[in-house]
This record gives sequence, C-alpha cells and structure tokens, in this order.
Amino acid sequence: MLRKLLTQTSSRRLLSSGIPPLFSKSSLSPFSSLSSSPEPPSSESTTVEHPGTTISVDRSSLYTPPDHSHESTPETELVKHLKSIIKFRGGPISVAEYMEEVLTNPKAGFYMNRDVFGAQGDFITSPEVSQMFGEMIGVWTVCLWEQMGRPERVNLVELGPGRGTLMADLLRGTSKFRNFTESLHIHLVECSPALQKLQHQNLKCTDDISSEKKVISSLAGTPVHWHATLEEVPSGVPTLIIAHEFYDALPVHQFQKSSRGWCEKMVDVGEDSKFRFVLSPQPTPAALYLMKRCAWATPEEREKLEHVEISPKSMDLTQEMAKRIGSDGGGALIIDYGMNAIISDSLQAIRKHKFVNILDDPGSADLSAYVDFPSIKHSAEEASENVSVHGPMTQSQFLGSLGINFRVDALLQNCNDEQAESLRAGYWQLVGDGEAPFWEGPDEQTPIGMGTRYLAMAIVNKNQGIPAPFQ
Ligand code: SAH
Repeated sequence: MLRKLLTQTSSRRLLSSGIPPLFSKSSLSPFSSLSSSPEPPSSESTTVEHPGTTISVDRSSLYTPPDHSHESTPETELVKHLKSIIKFRGGPISVAEYMEEVLTNPKAGFYMNRDVFGAQGDFITSPEVSQMFGEMIGVWTVCLWEQMGRPERVNLVELGPGRGTLMADLLRGTSKFRNFTESLHIHLVECSPALQKLQHQNLKCTDDISSEKKVISSLAGTPVHWHATLEEVPSGVPTLIIAHEFYDALPVHQFQKSSRGWCEKMVDVGEDSKFRFVLSPQPTPAALYLMKRCAWATPEEREKLEHVEISPKSMDLTQEMAKRIGSDGGGALIIDYGMNAIISDSLQAIRKHKFVNILDDPGSADLSAYVDFPSIKHSAEEASENVSVHGPMTQSQFLGSLGINFRVDALLQNCNDEQAESLRAGYWQLVGDGEAPFWEGPDEQTPIGMGTRYLAMAIVNKNQGIPAPFQ
C-alpha cells in the first residue's frame, strides 16, 4: 500500500532553490538556553504585598539574566501590558501566562502580525525544509483514511498551520487520490490573522461565489474553514488531525523543588523595572496538574525530580482530541521536538535563528518548550477508552518507514543540480542527526538534523487498528 501511494504521489511544487535556512527549534539541547547563560546563585528574597496578604517571594537559585540582554530599550506595548497585569494582579504571573501573552496576545503576540518562518524569520520548520515532509504526512492521512473504510466525508484538521505549506504539499501530493481529496473538509485552527492570510494565499483559496462565504482551495477543490480553537471545528464527522510543531507553542508552567516543597516559577517585575523570575511562596492552582503529571511518572523518574515543566493546555487539548476521535472515528498525528519522559526545564526563546533570553524584549522572539509525549499518551487514554496511542517514534523512523527514501529518489530523477543539492540537504535535515557531515558552507549555517530530536505519536480510534507506520 505504502509503495503504491508513493509512486502515485504528485510533485508539482517547485523545488526550493538553494540550501534552506537551517535553524530548527531543536537545534541545541533542551537545556541549552539556560546552560549557555550560567545561573549565579542568589540569596536574595523579596516581599510582595498582595491585597490583604503579604507573601514572601524566594529569589534564591533563580536565573539572573545576563546584563547584555537587558540594555535599555523603549518599552513596547506588550511589555507595558505584561507589567500592568503584574501590577493589577498584585503579584507575579505564571510562566504559562507570560508565554501565552508573549506568543498570542491579540495585538502584539509573536505569532499575530507577521510571517516568522524561514531565512528572513526566526526559525525553520520541517514543511519549510522540504516538500517531502508534507507529502509524507499526506501518505499517512491516505493510509488512515483507507483503514477508516474510505469515508465519504472527513474533517481534515490542522492545528497551527504556519504558512500553510504542509497542507499545500499534502493536498498536492494526494491529488491523484480523488476519492480521498473529494471527501475532505479542511479546518485550520489558527490564532494569527497574519498567518491565516498567508495560509489562504498558499492554499490558493478562492471565495466560492455560488455559496456565500465558502472558501475553496484550488489545490484540491476542497472547502477550507478557519477557527481559533479545536472546539469550534464541527464534530460528528470522522476526523483526521495534524499537529506539527503546535504543542511546543502551548504554555508551560514550571515548578522547582525547594525547602518549602514544590514552588511554581513565576514572572515578576523587579525594583529595577526589569522582568525576573521568582518562586511562588505557596501552592498555585497549576499544582493540581503537577500532581497529575507526577502520578504518571515512573518511581525512578519521581525520585530524581528537581524541576518539572508541565503544560495543562496540552493535556486539555489532547483530551478534546481523544474524545472527538473516540466518538467520531479517525486519528491524530502529533510531530514535535520533545522527549518520551517528564520534562524538567526546556523553555527557550529564539530570535532570528539564535537563542536569546526568555525575558528579553517579549513578543520579538519565539518561546517554545519540549513536548512531554507521555503526558499526551496518558491524557488521551484517560479521556476516551475508544482510542489507542502509538509511539512516540523518531521522525527519522516515521518518515523512513513511510518511504521517504523512495520519494527522494523519485524526485532526484527529475531535477537540475541545484535542485538536487537542495533536495539532498532537505532530506538529510529531516531524517539526519547532529551536524551535517557533508556541509561545506559557513559554520553558523551548518544544517542540524531533525531526525531524532523530533518525535511522532498517533492517537487513533481503536476501530481503525494500528496506524501506519506504527505496526
Ligand atoms: N505547523 C507549522 C507552524 C508551527 S508554529 C509548521 O510546522 O511550519 C506554531 C503555529 O501555531 C503558528 O501557526 C501559530 O500561529 C499557531 N498557534 C500558536 N499558538 C496557537 C494557539 N493557542 N491557537 C491557535 N494557533 C496557535
């Protein structure tokens, strides 16, 4: 089946010319953003006045950002907004609230007003590296649709589609499977108006004048709808969900073990008017999720824990996905950088392909965190007994088992030298590991393979059996 799909995959996307920009969000180790800036121990402690109560904020062993990252720059609207939340709340906010504001604040969030991807942007993702990525996801969706008994109507949902490149490559690649493409209703869950516009453009959407407001992608003749959340996507129809580099953008709470027990790391404004991290003096509401996550950890994992990072939003989103798949049929594919283990402290900030301080100039850098795959698995299994969870496996194994080697060979038959070089570099970046051995360009642009740092996991309705390539 896979071989048949690969030979029929259409490839009209022009191969990108030149070597792709190289900095993916997983280019360094999960802890590199902190370890690259040493954490001098501090014995400072501060008292914060809350209405009706006084809390003592322990600043010991917290990260003090390096001086260079806090050169005085004019305060942006987002900085003023964050400071006003802290001021009127009467105390620090969680790292999760900070992250959410920084990324998706409607006026000034990182994703909201511009294209952040590629050489001119801040980082590169797999669909932007090579057309083969979206094509392989297309193979995965057609296989699952076959296992679902070829339903006549399917909701194909993508969470956080970025530029829309993955979906465009998927539709182009599967265009020969008419029964599949004719069954599709595409639903894009995207919070950014700027990126929604780009997706509309890249999917070559046109407004269908025969029925008011309906938007059709001319790539496959399928209707396309946009939503701010998954809950808004109509249910009751078999559903295929793709989440590529979406979970890493969901807010995380960070906890640290202290003499008082587990304290939540919070973002505060210091006397010098700069943002800084502090520890909560007592348990916070997110501690409930911390307890839940720790209960899923192995005893060996629990023993070693000093720091824990959790994403309640990811857990809730997974439950919504699992319930939908459990009742409507279908499945979800999650690909992201992360670990098959509890995460300790991975939040990182990237601006213009470089790691920067998390608290520096919020809104101008991407914030992302490693995805906790076991917590996705447990959340899905808890939400619905009708779903099964498969993986994670490495991106390299996933793409390799789906046949990316055959695909690259087929594409290499029909391209010029420059395109062949770009294809090989892209292929290596998707499935390779570490620094590219063949690289002869400038050091700072050495491609870093995403093959083992990115993991793939599937959640499917049990009626569908085991999805490819997890058998
Ligand atoms: N999947 C794309 C883009 C990944 S970046 C790719 O691989 O290239 C994350 C994407 O998720 C962006 O499109 C961003 O605007 C969107 N996003 C981030 N947080 C979101 C949220 N809370 N709700 C909806 N979309 C979100």
